[in-house]
Amino acid sequence: MSDDKDKLESELDKLRVKNEQLSQTYREVEAQLSIKDQQLCAQKKELQSATQRVERLEEENEELRGRQEQEEPLKCPVCLEFYTSERRAVALFCSHMLCRLWHQRLTELDSSSLCPMCRGMEVTNCLNLF
Ligand SMILES: [Zn+2]
Ligand SMILES: [Zn+2]
Repeated sequence: MSDDKDKLESELDKLRVKNEQLSQTYREVEAQLSIKDQQLCAQKKELQSATQRVERLEEENEELRGRQEQEEPLKCPVCLEFYTSERRAVALFCSHMLCRLWHQRLTELDSSSLCPMCRGMEVTNCLNLF
C-alpha cells in the first residue's frame, strides 16, 4: 500500500514538474504573441499613415489638375485669338503656349526667336502641336 502511495506521489511530482514546464512555455508563447501583436499594431499604424499620405497626395494631385485645367488659356496670348483647328496651340518647353500661326511667323522671322511670354526658351523648342 505504501509502495503504491509512493509511486503515486512520484507520479504527481512528475506531473507537477510537467505542469510547471508547460505553464512556463505558455508564458513564453504569450509573451512572444504580445510582441508580435505590438509589431503588427505598429505595422498597421504605418500602413494607415502611408495610406493617408497617398490619399492626401492624390487629393493634391486632383486639385492641381483642376487648377491647371482652369488656367489653361483658350486664347493665344500673342494675337489674343481663340485657338481653333486652323489656329492650333503650340506648347513651348517653358510651358507657355501660342498659336501655330504666330509660332510659324516667329520661327520664319528668326529661327532663334524666344518665347514672347518669358523669353526663356527658343520657340523652335516646342513640345507638341494639338
Ligand atoms: Zn496667336
Ligand atoms: Zn515662355
